[in-house]
Amino acid sequence: MEMISLRNIDKWYNPSFQVLKNCSTTIEKGEVVVVCGPSGSGKSTLIKTVNALESIQAGDIVVNGISVTDSGTNLPKLRARVGMVFQHFELFPHLKVIDNLCLGQVKVLGRSRSEASEKARKMLERVGLSAHAEKFPGQLSGGQQQRVAIARALVMDPVCMLFDEPTSALDPEMVSEVLDVMTELAGEGMTMMVVTHEMGFARKVANRVIFMDGGEIVEDRPAEDFFQSPESPRAVQFLSKIL
Ligand code: ADP
Ligand code: MG
Repeated sequence: MEMISLRNIDKWYNPSFQVLKNCSTTIEKGEVVVVCGPSGSGKSTLIKTVNALESIQAGDIVVNGISVTDSGTNLPKLRARVGMVFQHFELFPHLKVIDNLCLGQVKVLGRSRSEASEKARKMLERVGLSAHAEKFPGQLSGGQQQRVAIARALVMDPVCMLFDEPTSALDPEMVSEVLDVMTELAGEGMTMMVVTHEMGFARKVANRVIFMDGGEIVEDRPAEDFFQSPESPRAVQFLSKIL
């Protein structure tokens, strides 16, 4: 079953700058796809088109059978079921961890406060942060904050998860605690699209790797193949710099 389908996506930020050029890919339910490529190649823009945080000028996007590009689609409802985790956590700083996890459940999904709270506590336990429910985000380390951000996405029962460089703002010693949570999630069958330069994670966890350069999807192949024999000179050069 197709979970995320991008077909012939074109996007311009302005008339003289096309940031996405005819990008197409399909992510099946349960697949983990890593998106990599040089800075400025359009990775963040591409991943944000999936939940319409970025508009497109041409192409079709379908998530879990719902067209993102159809003007009749209820985007807030769709976004509620597509989990997104950013580089800089984007937690609500004035809310306690537990309240960060309850807000969307109550406001968007209409759950009762007690139901939301129970779900939040279960999810905090799962990411190893039960002891921190009553703290504010600023009292936590970067790795802990990012795990809160993942838990906050998961309490919404997402159909898929999008990650945009979830570990690149972290101190090195905190990277693995976040990747471990993501690896576990992948093992449970979550559909994941992950922009990352963590090639160890990509090798171990990803089914496929998409390599972007200059707004194009240059390679879209099984992870194993990509690492063993990248086809394009651009991917070879990229890998030689980061491996
Ligand atoms: P990546 O995530 O691969 O580093 P981005 O998708 O963030 O790439 O950006 C791709 C290109 O689009 C870059 O050249 C960037 O400067 C440009 N860009 C990103 N956001 C905007 C914007 N809001 N307006 C104009 N240009 C942008
Ligand atoms: Mg980016």
